[in-house]
Amino acid sequence: MKSVRKVRLKADTTYVAAIAFVMLIPYVVSGFSRTGEPSDLDPRIVKVVQSVSEDRLVAILKKLESFGTRSTLSSIDTPDRGIGAAREWILKEMSNYSPRLQVSFDSYRVAKQGRITRDVEVRNVMAVLPGKTARRVYVSGHYDTLARPGGQGSANASRPSFGDPDAPVVPVTDPDAPLDNLAPGVNDDGSGTALTIELARVFSQSGIDFDATLVFMCHVAEEQGLIGARLHAEKAVAQKIRIDAVLNNDIVGNDKSGNAIVDGATIRVYSEGPEDSPSRELARFVQRWGARYVPSHKVRLMARPDRFGRGGDHSAYNQFGFAAVGFRESRENFTRQHDVRDTFEGISAAYLAQNARVNAASMAVLGLAPPAPVVVNERGQPMIGRQPSGYDANLRWNASPGAAAYRIFWREAWGPDWQHDMLVGAATEAVLPNMQIDDYVLGVAAVDADGHESVVAPYVAPARPGGPVKTVP
Ligand SMILES: [Zn+2]
Repeated sequence: MKSVRKVRLKADTTYVAAIAFVMLIPYVVSGFSRTGEPSDLDPRIVKVVQSVSEDRLVAILKKLESFGTRSTLSSIDTPDRGIGAAREWILKEMSNYSPRLQVSFDSYRVAKQGRITRDVEVRNVMAVLPGKTARRVYVSGHYDTLARPGGQGSANASRPSFGDPDAPVVPVTDPDAPLDNLAPGVNDDGSGTALTIELARVFSQSGIDFDATLVFMCHVAEEQGLIGARLHAEKAVAQKIRIDAVLNNDIVGNDKSGNAIVDGATIRVYSEGPEDSPSRELARFVQRWGARYVPSHKVRLMARPDRFGRGGDHSAYNQFGFAAVGFRESRENFTRQHDVRDTFEGISAAYLAQNARVNAASMAVLGLAPPAPVVVNERGQPMIGRQPSGYDANLRWNASPGAAAYRIFWREAWGPDWQHDMLVGAATEAVLPNMQIDDYVLGVAAVDADGHESVVAPYVAPARPGGPVKTVP
């Protein structure tokens, strides 16, 4: 166990002290740029980000499109068409990347219910890159597809003729027969699937030994109610598998909206609340590290679980208590969703590659950093107080394995983004004198000797259940 070292900063010299700390601690410097100036970017992560290949993404998308449909209810025994052929190809493709990558089907028998019109075997395709520890970080998409009459364009507009006059009609078929009508799903969600498959290649060939176990997950049956993701998340809970983060990508390959607005320079990231939930901290982490490793692409955080009336697999993980966020392209073209026109023509490969790079940067830092510190005691109470003066901010946390330092974050209690941060060395307690804890949100992240930083663990007041007041009868 590390000895507890207490850090005290003088009230009027907080920033000076912070600067002094940074200067005294040599291990914050993780790499050097070509000019010889210290850089807080890890050159290995820079290489991972640079290894994302637009050409590979294009090849994967065209292959996925070639199956005609990947509907969960489509044929499983037709060569080159339907979900059976598609899942076999994804399995084989990822198996080729590296002997370190463990690729398998994650299969379930699902009974007829809701949008599952008959009993069906569903298979997620997962690739696991084992780390030094068993805790897991996921990147995901869903490889199943859907096309229905009028697609999402008609569903969104007030009447079909207004939203989508050219929408082709998809014939209704026998629910007991394989649903083999055309449903190319190149953007929804071939884009998230291709991104996941490409990152499986990049990470498994990086030569880096990650601390966390990395999982590249192609979910199934998303379109029938997040079924593949829900079954997997439920299994993870039952088997006590620790999932620290899920980066879910669904509709991330198109940069031109149906109303002609183009935005290829930003990506939306949705996360469920409340404001300091684990998913919100993960979202802030993605923005912080995405901005450093892919400064040309802006992460736009959305303080809501998802878009109106829409859902995605990250919510399935949230339902089982895991931190998970949803990446969504900034400008959607609804006439190319859930529609036979969701084809390769609707894809911007350059845009998809940028989104893949933001995911790669986030996953690499998450995978290399120590786990976030625990900031609550055995009773679940946040270890924050006003000691020693009674007017200070006193933060305590449990040491994280592998941490060489900790970084304190704070912001005013009315505001979504961290405003300040300060490195405090290998302490497990810090005092910020005269700082009124009621007016700030405070948190702490673990940092390893190479500067890899965890998600921030915030000090959050637990909800106080209100009981009934006894009144005199
Ligand atoms: Zn989707």
